[in-house]
Amino acid sequence: MRRRQFVLGLASGAGLATCPTCATLLAAETGHGATPHWTYEGAAGPANWAKMSPRFAACSGQRQSPIDLTSSMSAAVASLDFAYGPSPLEIVNNGHTIQVNYASGSILTVGGVRHALVQFHFHHPSEHSIDGQKSPMELHLVHRDEKDQLAVIGVMMRAGASHDAIGRLWAHMPMFAGPPKRVNDAQVNAAELLPAGRGSYQYFGSLTTPPCAEGVHWIVLKDPITASVEQIQKFAAAFPNNARPVQPINRRFLLRSQ
Ligand SMILES: [Zn+2]
Repeated sequence: MRRRQFVLGLASGAGLATCPTCATLLAAETGHGATPHWTYEGAAGPANWAKMSPRFAACSGQRQSPIDLTSSMSAAVASLDFAYGPSPLEIVNNGHTIQVNYASGSILTVGGVRHALVQFHFHHPSEHSIDGQKSPMELHLVHRDEKDQLAVIGVMMRAGASHDAIGRLWAHMPMFAGPPKRVNDAQVNAAELLPAGRGSYQYFGSLTTPPCAEGVHWIVLKDPITASVEQIQKFAAAFPNNARPVQPINRRFLLRSQ
């Protein structure tokens, strides 16, 4: 137990050292301010991100995300306490994903450390895989603590029953890239996007988009949520592929909750 905590603490500390200002990270995660223009295919695709700009050098680092979640160690992982509330709906198609910018006040406490929910967004197909199996989609809820450390919750999305909250979001989905759209009188509550279970895989990785900065605490929930085939197809029409390929785990620990 002590040893595991030391490992996590060390990784967290290392992240601090490699983490530039969070505003930059978050801007990069949304694609804003991240130049040159990168894509998921072709010459500006993932295999070339690290070569495109010195700012993207971390994309060829040793602690990158996503990864295949396999060969995990059962451990006393950081505890999770979600205190999400509603937010006015601000939704954006930034050319890389559909993102919802979240109002302040929704908190995820990870191992006793408070992180504010900043935004959430989606990938198709999933970025992480579990024992080699991808899901049709993956939701990422991005949080930041006082020290600008990032913690991202990943939620797998499988095809099944349609999802009410996804349906309400998709009703306002901008199909083309543009500025954020504030929807009057519409609210979103990220709590509705969480599965019932709190079991998780946890490891230290990176942003999955340029500049691929490392030091991100990844927490992928074991339980998926479902969306209907039609809901998945609507996102896929706008984003046929916005998933970075899985990266080597290298010398890292992948923990799973007991
Ligand atoms: Zn993401």
